[in-house]
Amino acid sequence: MNDDILSHYMEAGALAKRFRDKAAAMVVPGESILELVDTIEQAIRDEGAGIAFPLNISINEDAAHDTAGPGDERLFSEGDVVKVDLGVHIEGYVADTATTVDLGDNALLVEASRAALNAALALVRPGVTTGEMGTVIQHEIESRGFRPVANLTGHGLSHFSLHGEPMIPNISMNGGAVIKEGMVFAVEPFASSGTGMVSDSNRTLIYSQIASRGVRLPSAKRVMDQIQDRRSLPFAKRWLTGDKIDLALSTLKRSGVVRGYPVLHDCSGSLVSQAEHTLIVTEDGCVITTL
Ligand code: MN
Ligand code: MN
Repeated sequence: MNDDILSHYMEAGALAKRFRDKAAAMVVPGESILELVDTIEQAIRDEGAGIAFPLNISINEDAAHDTAGPGDERLFSEGDVVKVDLGVHIEGYVADTATTVDLGDNALLVEASRAALNAALALVRPGVTTGEMGTVIQHEIESRGFRPVANLTGHGLSHFSLHGEPMIPNISMNGGAVIKEGMVFAVEPFASSGTGMVSDSNRTLIYSQIASRGVRLPSAKRVMDQIQDRRSLPFAKRWLTGDKIDLALSTLKRSGVVRGYPVLHDCSGSLVSQAEHTLIVTEDGCVITTL
């Protein structure tokens, strides 16, 4: 990795950490989710950095991919378990980091994903396998009485790309990828009081472009104009302006130009925590960019 790229990753990491902590401090009962995400996303833009994906605020059994919708009136409540998952990029080099804010009495659940993340990070060096990381993640979470979310994983990061190799499982696995110097990836254990499997809910607030193809529908064209500069990185429905946005998005989805990321949830009444850092593998360990 050359020095320019390394400095972009480090700068993105420092900003992501700062805005993650600032966002987490705004998670207070009675505070508006829409106001939080608007404030933090604007602060990232004001810094001259890029938003790698819409600020994810996922509550209780919702594990990931929730954010404020247009005109969202939801407020944080006493007792909520709130995941704040934030991504910043500098020239396309991404930092992805998350923390959980406990507005109730779920300190052990929050500790489970945090301890799992720390244990996995402590293992990272060339030659270790992603399967070994999954084993320690599962152990830390289960030893606290929770289930790791088996169908969510950590992931490699590359230029303008969020979900590449290697995949870092949150459960024990034989083999897996061998970690090599220079790899950049995010590790993100989720601990759940529910089933440990997430599925799509019926709400979708985040999308990304997956193909470039001409579209005729005027409202769809307007959306395409507005997401052009995303370079395939995810965007929020609430960022779009103009009429007939629902029609535009469903048309673009049907024609395979965009995909949606439905809110992912565990079973009703369960609680999920998450912790996430981005790292760069070095000769004998790793540098955590979002620490
Ligand atoms: Mn994340
Ligand atoms: Mn991630």
